[in-house]
Amino acid sequence: MDTTFQEFDLQDNILKAIKELGFEKPSPIQQQAIPMLLQEDSDIIALAQTGTGKTAAFGLPVLQKLDFSQSATQALILSPTRELCIQTQEEIEKYGKFISGLNTLAVYGGAPISGQIRALKTHPKILVATPGRLIDLLNRGIADLSNVRIVVLDEADEMLNMGFRDDIDFILGNSVNRTCTWLFSATMNPDVRRISKRYMKAPKEIAVARENAGNEHIDHQYYVINAHQRYDALCRLIDFTPDIYGIIFTRTKLDAQDISEKLARRGVSIGALHGDMDQKARTRVMDKFKKGYFQIIVATDVAARGIDVNDITHVINYELPDDPEVYTHRSGRTARAGKSGICISLVTSREIHRIRMVERLSKTKFHKSDLPDGSAVIRKRLNHFFSEMAAAAPSDTFLENTQRAILEKMAENAPELLIQKMLWLQFKDLIKEYDKAKDLNAGYQQSPENRHERGRTVRLFVNLGSKDGLHAEKLVHYIADTTDLDKKLISRVTVRELSSFFNVPTEALSFLEHAFAGVKYNGRRVRIEDADATPGFKGGKGKFADAPNGGGFSRKGSREGYSQQKFSRNKNPKK
Ligand code: AMP
Repeated sequence: MDTTFQEFDLQDNILKAIKELGFEKPSPIQQQAIPMLLQEDSDIIALAQTGTGKTAAFGLPVLQKLDFSQSATQALILSPTRELCIQTQEEIEKYGKFISGLNTLAVYGGAPISGQIRALKTHPKILVATPGRLIDLLNRGIADLSNVRIVVLDEADEMLNMGFRDDIDFILGNSVNRTCTWLFSATMNPDVRRISKRYMKAPKEIAVARENAGNEHIDHQYYVINAHQRYDALCRLIDFTPDIYGIIFTRTKLDAQDISEKLARRGVSIGALHGDMDQKARTRVMDKFKKGYFQIIVATDVAARGIDVNDITHVINYELPDDPEVYTHRSGRTARAGKSGICISLVTSREIHRIRMVERLSKTKFHKSDLPDGSAVIRKRLNHFFSEMAAAAPSDTFLENTQRAILEKMAENAPELLIQKMLWLQFKDLIKEYDKAKDLNAGYQQSPENRHERGRTVRLFVNLGSKDGLHAEKLVHYIADTTDLDKKLISRVTVRELSSFFNVPTEALSFLEHAFAGVKYNGRRVRIEDADATPGFKGGKGKFADAPNGGGFSRKGSREGYSQQKFSRNKNPKK
């Protein structure tokens, strides 16, 4: 469709702002919503995800419909999170840049209320608010919704998911003079339906295809890895993608923090974004990311809500989310505003069925990719360096100042040798790491022709034995079930009465220790340790000869344990 913004009957001062922002043509949701919202005082339900241009779809009609000579709050936009709240207000300010008398305000929790109270006294015409903070301000008699004509529920499904149902009821019940209610939501569910039935008059429904404008430009890839090499696989992908500007999603706050710290130590410019950080720290990280100082942020789903950055090249699912809907939210962070992007998921072979589930439910097609080998990483980084070199523009002074010395060096060494030496200096650490790097694709080390890749193993002790009802095969199953470690990596299993021994690849040791932290077996804490490194374990005679109680596997344990958050796949770990 070739609709233009000019055809919408928008005021010149709004069209001027849109032009300045470089919007060439309306997005599908804008094409449907803007004419409808401009013409009538009707209620609508718009199914559109983040990245579809939904803010302008309701923001432009809001701006056109308000009377900016009147000093009262006339439009209220409810947002699930402070990040989205701030972004929406900023976005609307941009669209209304040439409207005189425009006064907008964002109010949200996690920031001092006093400043917001002062700002409310200036009677913002458009108020963007998170439900909780707005209710606080209403209860204090500071916010006044009596002149509000338009109420927008933005990301209504998210607000309901976050437990704002009663708050939304209260707010809608308090804005009795509104003439229209516009509900924007990525999905339709019974809760959204209930809100629309209760508070909207014969709403018209509009929707853009579930695969929004951005999604068709997303390349969904997955890599099948061994559970204990998940982090190594992530490093490999990042080293292979020097131009990345991306978000890594983790299931837990702990993982987000841990991974960002570890990658930062490898020299990646990276920040974490999770619920344990206060608002100031989160804003700092977002600013650095937006300015390009951070190439990557590692985030939990909750903290990443409302991240509105257009140029994201990659979204990486360190682990798949439980809910396919969440996958769609995550992947929608890339391929925005007509650009293309890649969404990568790291899965173990036992998690592949979840890829199929996402494929079915979100009608997307994934394709399997292989992790690059070491030489591919080195080649890629060299080529990247060459293209940076080609684009470099040294100053004339620098060229002049260095010319003589370079000519002298070229008299001593062939030019190609000089360049090789320079490259060596630049890349020797990477080359050392990747010269003989392991193949990290699952199944590779187990295949007979690649036995040589198996490498060294370590003998481990575990305080479980035949008294717990275990035999070798059952123990292997238990370890694999609890940690997702590939069964084929467990060898030389010896089960005794009170303890057992088995071998795993050396690099799986710390993974297993983490994975079993806090895990209990029939009420008893499971201990896994390096048999050779712990005195008294050699030969399998250990100090852990405590009498075990038989029967039954249990993953119950301390909730704060690493493995509990990471491996309780049926539960939704607290973010
Ligand atoms: P939203 O879905 O509202 O979060 O918008 C996603 C991004 O697309 C925002 O950064 C907008 O500024 C941008 N955008 C919105 N409408 C258009 C348009 N018609 N053309 C190009 N970019 C747009």
